[in-house]
Amino acid sequence: MGFDPIATPTVPVAEHREPVFDHVEQNAAAAQRLADHVARTGRRPNILVVLMDDVGWGDFGCYGGGIAVGAPTPNIDRLARNGLLLTSCYSEPTCSPSRATLLTGRYPMRHGLQRPPMYGEPGGLQGEVTVAELLSDAGYVTQCVGKWHVGENPESQPQNVGFDDFYGFLSVSDMYTEWRDPYFFPEIVYSEERTRWIENQPFNKCFVHATRGGEPEEVEEVTIPVLSTLDEKWCAYSEDFLHRIGEQDKPWFLYHNTRGAHFDNYPLEKYLGSSPARHPYKDTIVELDAIVGRLVAVLEETGQLDDTLIFVSSDNGPEMETWPDAAYTPFRCAKGSTWEGGVRVPGIFSWRGMIEGGQASDGLFNFTDLFPTFLALAGAEDSIPEDRFIDGVDQTSFLLTADGLSNRKFHHYWLGTVFSAVRVGEYKMMLASTSDDDRDVVNPGGLTGVTQTYTYARLYNLYLDPKETHSYMIRKLAYLSAMQEGVRDHVMSFAKYPPKSIVGMNAPG
Ligand code: CA
Repeated sequence: MGFDPIATPTVPVAEHREPVFDHVEQNAAAAQRLADHVARTGRRPNILVVLMDDVGWGDFGCYGGGIAVGAPTPNIDRLARNGLLLTSCYSEPTCSPSRATLLTGRYPMRHGLQRPPMYGEPGGLQGEVTVAELLSDAGYVTQCVGKWHVGENPESQPQNVGFDDFYGFLSVSDMYTEWRDPYFFPEIVYSEERTRWIENQPFNKCFVHATRGGEPEEVEEVTIPVLSTLDEKWCAYSEDFLHRIGEQDKPWFLYHNTRGAHFDNYPLEKYLGSSPARHPYKDTIVELDAIVGRLVAVLEETGQLDDTLIFVSSDNGPEMETWPDAAYTPFRCAKGSTWEGGVRVPGIFSWRGMIEGGQASDGLFNFTDLFPTFLALAGAEDSIPEDRFIDGVDQTSFLLTADGLSNRKFHHYWLGTVFSAVRVGEYKMMLASTSDDDRDVVNPGGLTGVTQTYTYARLYNLYLDPKETHSYMIRKLAYLSAMQEGVRDHVMSFAKYPPKSIVGMNAPG
């Protein structure tokens, strides 16, 4: 019998783990490949994550965007050509939920960040175990650069959750600058009282540097001119890290989070007008592509490219409420929603000599999977916590075998605290979503809509209907049991492992 993502059953891993497909031969081949690499090099692989902000599934050339949408991305396209391009890589609908999910291997209903904390709201990663902490325990040097946004409270800051060093800002781009720009906030800029009022709000206006366990030191206040230089400064910091660490023997984890291309984009002067579109968003995409090229070039120069797994992605779908300061997705709706446009993001893996080049796969992958996969690569899978539910699936064998298959059967979609949908194979059953207005097929975006729960579940075939406009349920009831299995096991897991709320939908704190 061949493999089929709907017909093939999963096998259990442990009570607190998501079940997996049991690809016996693939797993053995990948384990051998990894063991050979470790034996040959005498060390565990390095891990580089480049996470962009609000960049859409379709923005890069290798996903059908690039020059077609006025912003060529030759460096990212080359990386994809030399590696594995995922077409069904899933984030969460917004920034902080996605980032905490990447760091913990858990969906937002488990780590508790169901929406981003804004303007100094308390709450973040308290009580969680991060991949940085476990990699650090396994002997990795851990470096975080750029946007954080998973809690400004001291116990959630990167230098206190497993990173040796942090250079970046603790929150999100627009919060530093929107109220300084007279185009968006004339009523604040031209009022001394309101300017003082916002300056006194309890969030840090600076980008900072911190070392493990220490207090963050303010580097510079993030005014608009400073903001335009952040991606350049952060890239230079990561380049410097890669040069320094290249002279040491230790494996490392570099978590590089760009400022771009979150609204509002103020590109570095040298990139102004550099895209064929000559628009700040598109100029920023050109800059982000150059940054990926620079980091890969340093890995090559320093002889680390064969020892480094690279992952490039974005934390959620495009933010269409700020159009045209927004990205491109061919799917329905945008950031904030559980329509595909909100949560399907670019996902490129590259590791020269270890990941077969020229591959693309529609196998399911989500941000929770990075946690167990990185720990498996580090030889530290035994450190995965057992006192909590881990949603991530070890995808090492998906990545390290030619034409590898995903080990994940189901992707679960949560819309804040509402269970929204499940995907298996090419089918997605939806129980709740943001607004049902046909106009959101192209616009205006998920953060504006209302949550609606359907009277009867809907079923979408994402191959025939990627824009999710035709419920296929009545013709395809035969799939009901497959969908129900994916919902039942997931929802039941919360009975033993209760959900957590740190930054909930309506009541922060
Ligand atoms: Ca984001």
